[in-house]
Amino acid sequence: MIPLSIPKIEGNESKYVLDCLKTGWISSAGSYVNQFEEMIAKYAGAKYGVACMNGTAGLHIAQILSGVTENDHVIAPNITFIATLNAIKYTGATPVLIDVDADDWQMDLDLLENYLQQQTEIKTLNGQSFSFDKSTGKRVRAIMPVHVLGNIGNMGRMLEIAKKYHLDIIEDGAEALGSTYENKHAGTFGKIGVFSFNGNKIISTGGGGVIITDDEDLAKRARHLTTQAKVSAMDYIHDEIGYNYRLVNVLAAIGVAQMESFPETLKAKKSMDAFYRSQLDGVADIKFQKIPKGTDPNCWLFTFTTSRMRELLDYLNKNGVQSRPFWMPMNQLDMFKEDIYITEKDVSASVYQNSISIPSSAGITQEQLETVVKVIKGFYASL
Ligand SMILES: *Cc1c(COP(=O)(O)O)cnc(C)c1O
Repeated sequence: MIPLSIPKIEGNESKYVLDCLKTGWISSAGSYVNQFEEMIAKYAGAKYGVACMNGTAGLHIAQILSGVTENDHVIAPNITFIATLNAIKYTGATPVLIDVDADDWQMDLDLLENYLQQQTEIKTLNGQSFSFDKSTGKRVRAIMPVHVLGNIGNMGRMLEIAKKYHLDIIEDGAEALGSTYENKHAGTFGKIGVFSFNGNKIISTGGGGVIITDDEDLAKRARHLTTQAKVSAMDYIHDEIGYNYRLVNVLAAIGVAQMESFPETLKAKKSMDAFYRSQLDGVADIKFQKIPKGTDPNCWLFTFTTSRMRELLDYLNKNGVQSRPFWMPMNQLDMFKEDIYITEKDVSASVYQNSISIPSSAGITQEQLETVVKVIKGFYASL
């Protein structure tokens, strides 16, 4: 089976892990954690990085940093991985789901702007201006853009919208390490950005995440909240409800090694993407995700649409090519069926019905790439 997306572990990973084991620094204190945070922040061009046990934990902390409470709405795209929505729900807040753009599959900014214009009003709370949803009375606190598949939408326009309606931007950059928009790295557009280093992401620590920000106070608070909100180095005194979310040194050690070889990983992803695009362009009704002008994506996971998605999915998995459907849109999941969903044509539903992801590991060989293409072409030839 040619796997969908597996990590490439060919550098100093075992050396650094062994170093942790031999020195006994295996847990949440240790130099690899700090080093990994610094490497990620520096790579993305952010001032601070705070490592967490996974991206979901990072997104949860980001909500708290942004002041999201159970009285708030947080805006999210209707097509994303469940973790985005879970992070919102952990705070008790309620999502407002926005349909996606048919071309780039990111949050549709026209729909976002229409919603804010027509269904919210700006009011003052404790001397600060906020937008409130007119139907629920809840404050709309933040927008969570998700850089789906490592692609990035028009962040310039999103920033303008966020400013006009007094919203924070919390970027779910889980899939977007290495992606830029107008030469600015994913995760650095808003107040806070979060990356994931889960097993299937562009680099992996097994499980892990990093919160990035330019705001020193937010970084300090993120560190505080992820380490049980302990105020004294000696005494067990805590000043708020904290979380045990810190990344451990053994996993950060893997991350440091993964970052050392990241430039090659990124190169491999881009050539994989270019190969698939050149070979599958014009095959049956296959259409690719559109990359907006100004975006340089990391090409994390190759995904395309075809009206024969279900049959193709079945065929590929039976013929040694591991493939997956896209995420079921959030508005179709039981937990979010009652929530506000802003849409005109329910583009999410058709993107979901037609999208398929194919093998995209950084370590995929030329031979494997050619096999994948051959099997896909074989499917259409067999119809
Ligand atoms: C992977 C992912 C997450 C969650 O990251 P974990 O590290 O698995 O917790 C969040 N959002 C998106 C869009 C993801 O793809």
